[in-house]
Amino acid sequence: MKKNFKGHLIVLSAPSGTGKTSVIRRLLKTHPNMIHSVSCTTRPKRTGEVEGGDYHFIDRDTFIKKIDKGEFAEWAEVHNRFYGTPRAPLEKALEEGKDVILDLDVQGGMKVKGLFGDKAITIFLLPPSVEELERRLSTRGTDSAEERQIRLENARHELAMKDAYDYQILNKDLEQACLEIEKILASH
Ligand code: 5GP
Repeated sequence: MKKNFKGHLIVLSAPSGTGKTSVIRRLLKTHPNMIHSVSCTTRPKRTGEVEGGDYHFIDRDTFIKKIDKGEFAEWAEVHNRFYGTPRAPLEKALEEGKDVILDLDVQGGMKVKGLFGDKAITIFLLPPSVEELERRLSTRGTDSAEERQIRLENARHELAMKDAYDYQILNKDLEQACLEIEKILASH
């Protein structure tokens, strides 16, 4: 990357239901210099999600126009929906020296590593077991049975990519997982 980015990108990937959102919330609380990159998505908003906080919820046409205009640092199709990282706020934050945490699927994670190299710290969060993941997904209740099935298949595919990440952290206990991530961040 030619630009003068002072901050780091912290890429967190994990199969749905691994507890990524809780880890991110926790890290943001304890790191005032860290911000969360809010992605655009074409998937419908879930109960409790906030526009501009969890995602920017946009339609397919708007998403495609943004791709054409180069407005995404990376984008991917996940679970039959589009997801993308808005480029401008990401670059602005990095130039200002902020660390940016990104919640990305494995395609996005690999793309960001390729684009940002050492500036990107990639962390894969592992569920305690596939059985536990199935249990968490089936009790979450926010997705339809069909969506859960797609997510479970994707989870298996994502887990197969874990070794391509700089770090793998087991999320058995939120506190412990966050502590391990803190250590990683402190070492950079
Ligand atoms: P969910 O619909 O459960 O919020 O997210 C589904 C998947 O999309 C998760 O694996 C999440 O990490 C990923 N994701 C969310 N935003 C982005 C993005 O901007 N780019 C990419 N590549 N993946 C994303």
